Amino acid sequence: MRFLSTGGEAPAVSLEEALFAGPAPDGGLYVPETLPRIQPPAAGASFTDTALSVARALFEEDVPREALEEIVRDGLDFEIPLVPVEEGVYSLELFHGPTLAFKDVGARFMARLLLHFLRRRGRDVTVLVATSGDTGSAVASAFYRLEGTRVVVLFPRGKVSALQQKLFTTLGGNVSALGVEGTFDDCQRMVKQAFADRDIPAIRSLVSANSINVGRLLPQTFYYFHISSRIESGAPLLVATPSGNFGNLTAGLFAKRMGFRADRFVAATNVNDVVPEYLAGGTYRPRPSVATLSNAMDVGDPSNWARIQWLYRGSLEEIRRDLLGSAHTDEETLGAMRDLYRRTGYLLDPHSAVAYLGALHGMTTQRNRPTALFLSTAHPAKFQETVERAIESKIELPPALAQALDRPERFLPIPAEYGALKEYLSP
Ligand SMILES: *Cc1c(COP(=O)(O)O)cnc(C)c1O
Repeated sequence: MRFLSTGGEAPAVSLEEALFAGPAPDGGLYVPETLPRIQPPAAGASFTDTALSVARALFEEDVPREALEEIVRDGLDFEIPLVPVEEGVYSLELFHGPTLAFKDVGARFMARLLLHFLRRRGRDVTVLVATSGDTGSAVASAFYRLEGTRVVVLFPRGKVSALQQKLFTTLGGNVSALGVEGTFDDCQRMVKQAFADRDIPAIRSLVSANSINVGRLLPQTFYYFHISSRIESGAPLLVATPSGNFGNLTAGLFAKRMGFRADRFVAATNVNDVVPEYLAGGTYRPRPSVATLSNAMDVGDPSNWARIQWLYRGSLEEIRRDLLGSAHTDEETLGAMRDLYRRTGYLLDPHSAVAYLGALHGMTTQRNRPTALFLSTAHPAKFQETVERAIESKIELPPALAQALDRPERFLPIPAEYGALKEYLSP
């Protein structure tokens, strides 16, 4: 498969080139030149099998069959249950991977795909990643102890939950963390600058692991097809995706173009509502992010929006046909967590709660009563304090988190300046 740049000014590249490149030379993001048509999976098919058949359609020209099978079976060996939470509303639980967040899906697939190409090239890479929480832990865990790789995680100091931070500052080995005195947007800007800096690749090969990397983005289409194996068709389907950088939603819209039968998507955000505002009023106004309880979605200038624009050739009218916006405050988020828990006993983390609110909002706008589904992107225990505050009682930590809490943290504090990052990366 060839990849084009959303900027329209860069030559088409192979999967391998797109995977190692990060952004395209014209500043755009890589997108597949053509999207294959996928047959719906059989009812009850395992997630791994569905993932494998979508992966084959996407990557079979570029990765030998057995290698692809190993990447999928080794990387995506966990469950993705679809849980009914109340009348006509389902939660797709994407948080059963090793770091209990949906980012495990993209990160684990990408790490193994990179390794496949690295072995053939015989070269080392440094994976550079900015995180507001979940990306850092998912990427660090996905690459931890993978030969020939080093991971550098940039995070905004004091803006990541203690538990989240533990997951990438306590691994050691080939994983190092830099605590930036600034916001997530600063971290992202510094990473972007590193990729634009011609000096750096000469020093050491850098690879991006943010959701702009096609190796992370495309495997996220797998779980949308998985939905079709778990839900009986009939009623129209509404899918609410909790969004920050919009990688998850982009994958959903790609999946729809590839044949996934959803009638509408809801772009659910916290008060960082650049996209819902655009969908409602037609003005796209990126701005600095605001801190919220759903901090993995505190993004003021979502990078993947360029891909959605590309997919719909910039037509707001066409985007609106597939996509509805829904933005929610922290108060509403806490209220939804409390409310659903009291009524049903189902626990939501703050990100999934925003998606749940988005699903409810979406249902009120559809004439035929749809089946609504929201993507649950993190295990509630990852946001223990917020969840306990919302439901006014204690929750238990799963063993993976409880163990991380006991390990000592290691990170280097740096100012929010590119120079500091460059110095760190230079030998
Ligand atoms: C990253 C993240 C999101 C946002 O996903 P995007 O693909 O950046 O829109 C939502 N929820 C959680 C828990 C996350 O970690």
